[in-house]
Amino acid sequence: MARKLPAFLSLLSLVLLPLASAQNSSSAQAAAEPALPYIPGLDVTAMDKSVDPCVDLYHYACGGWQKKNPIPPDQTSWNVYGKLYQNNLMFLRGILEQAGSNTAQRDAVTQKIGDFYASCMDETTADKRGIAAIQPQLDAIASLKSVHEMAPLVARLPLPFGRTILFAAGSTQDPDNSEQEIADLDQGGLGLPDRDYYTKEDAKSKEIRERYVEHVQKIFELLGDNSPAAKQNAETILRMETALAKASWTRVERRDPYKLKNKMKLGELSQLAPNFDWQTYYRELQYPPIEILNVDAPQFYKQVSAELSGEPLQNWKNYLRFHVADQYSPFLSANFVQENFEFYRKYLRGAKEMQPRWRRCVQFTDYNLGEALGQVYVRRVFSPELKASTLDMVTRIEAAMGERIRQLDWMSPETKQQALAKLAAIRNKIGYPDKWRDYSSVKITPNDLAGNIERAAEFEEHRQINKIGQPVDHGEWEISPPTVDAYYNPQMNDINFPAGVLQPPLYDAKMDDAPNYGDTGGTIGHELTHGFDDEGSQFDAKGNLKNWWTKDDREKFDARTKCVAEQYSKYVMVGDIHINGELTLGENVADLGGEILAFMAWKDATKDKTLQPIDGLTPEQRFFVGFAQWDCANVRDEDLRLRAITDPHSSAQYRINGVVVNMPEFAHAFSCKTGQPMVNPPEKVCKVW
Ligand SMILES: [Zn+2]
Repeated sequence: MARKLPAFLSLLSLVLLPLASAQNSSSAQAAAEPALPYIPGLDVTAMDKSVDPCVDLYHYACGGWQKKNPIPPDQTSWNVYGKLYQNNLMFLRGILEQAGSNTAQRDAVTQKIGDFYASCMDETTADKRGIAAIQPQLDAIASLKSVHEMAPLVARLPLPFGRTILFAAGSTQDPDNSEQEIADLDQGGLGLPDRDYYTKEDAKSKEIRERYVEHVQKIFELLGDNSPAAKQNAETILRMETALAKASWTRVERRDPYKLKNKMKLGELSQLAPNFDWQTYYRELQYPPIEILNVDAPQFYKQVSAELSGEPLQNWKNYLRFHVADQYSPFLSANFVQENFEFYRKYLRGAKEMQPRWRRCVQFTDYNLGEALGQVYVRRVFSPELKASTLDMVTRIEAAMGERIRQLDWMSPETKQQALAKLAAIRNKIGYPDKWRDYSSVKITPNDLAGNIERAAEFEEHRQINKIGQPVDHGEWEISPPTVDAYYNPQMNDINFPAGVLQPPLYDAKMDDAPNYGDTGGTIGHELTHGFDDEGSQFDAKGNLKNWWTKDDREKFDARTKCVAEQYSKYVMVGDIHINGELTLGENVADLGGEILAFMAWKDATKDKTLQPIDGLTPEQRFFVGFAQWDCANVRDEDLRLRAITDPHSSAQYRINGVVVNMPEFAHAFSCKTGQPMVNPPEKVCKVW
């Protein structure tokens, strides 16, 4: 089953993450907001002026925010982005409740989102149906006669949107011809959030695995197995998944695009993994003829094939049964929802309470019908003026990047020319897609949540399959307009800023330029820099995986990024766990490059203005406080542990402090002295872009 984000997508943050596990509960009736609440782009009350900015800019800018914003019991972390996202959900709830009523006068889009949301809010029906909602899937698994029949079964087993079983299949841009879509296979098949959970030998990892076995056992019991059988099955699942995990790429390995590029013919795949019937699999899913496909992790498929012949049929039936039930849990009766929360959100990420049901349902609507909900959202919050002013900022940051490239003292003219060509080719996508996704073929009814989930997932699966063999659609977006996040896609060579991330306090049209450039300007620069970080820089202007560097320049560049990797590896994330400097390298380079570009662009945009201090802060100080306040955060320790393994971003404090130690402009703005913690001596400053 399909749908994964493109392999190299560099998101700014991980707001999408909560959707990977369920949150749910009943009541908590907070009123829907008619408009997004206003929060200023620079909030002096969020600061803690007792902290010396030259010692710790992050806590100077965010200390007040941290005190005033404890983590709500149903959240795993709380930050400026998350808070805006929650305000968005409240706002969208109002839209969806309206869309669910007044059924006579609705247009097609309003009907889809209104009825989807209504079906999700119908907790009574979900409770009444229980596992009957997934009985067709369970019956299909039960009737499996041989391991050879796994292929057609896996192909037609309906799963929720974004979920996969055994592996991930879909389409991707050809790494050698970015204008062409080809079929793609990626690793998958695990119930824990990353392969490292299965392989690490420290005490905490062992405890997590024990707790995972209990979770799997609980799911089997909910499916009707007796306790001893459920326990035995759960242990088998862990063993099978551990073998798959060991054959999976690590997250650091997955940052190397050449490791993931393994193009082959269907016949070669069948040789690599002969025990899975690929011909039948692709025929069942009505793939167009496959001339070539990309297999991201060949050794993973070898392992799948080995396990198919090595494990008895009954173990595979249990494997499929568990994964279907586990993935549908958020949409089933309360006992499944509760167990899903207990393990994935409470134990693994530290949430104390389940989120109210309405919030979960708004998220599911956004996830399944994002560009339908997005149309209504954009009409309400993203005016043509806002689009024009944010696009103007993008143009200015791009001009700064051109200037910066021309100024670099370490790069040769040949490589500079290529870098400038790549910069000029970047597509700027701001607010929402030019052409909305057409959901007219998806049947949505107000009283069948599981069915709606299946049909929305099937629509997405076919959308992905239909791309194969077709030219790439450059207008496509990977995240919905209300999403509070942004991304760069190196294969598309485009930056994408949904309307949701261009709202106050991140972009505040009422505020002076300094904090806006420090915050959103830095974000724009961050995404641009991804085209030139250690990973993105391996793709050319057209998005092809093709070297455009001279050997000498590449070596100098690698030495410069190494400086950043070593810097961040010294920082502690939680307890004795350090930031993984290799995993987070691209994001750290983008954070640094982004802020340098934003500062340059801001200086240029305001060069004819006389800027005055406001609220006791000089314009330069406002730039840096505005920057720091983009990521004021409180995060639970459990969530930090999970992020240390899965998140390519550093923790909030170092996304701020780790950047400014490399910016002499910061030390100048606050008159910091050499020797203070936020001031790197010149020879220790990491300079990449
Ligand atoms: Zn990023």
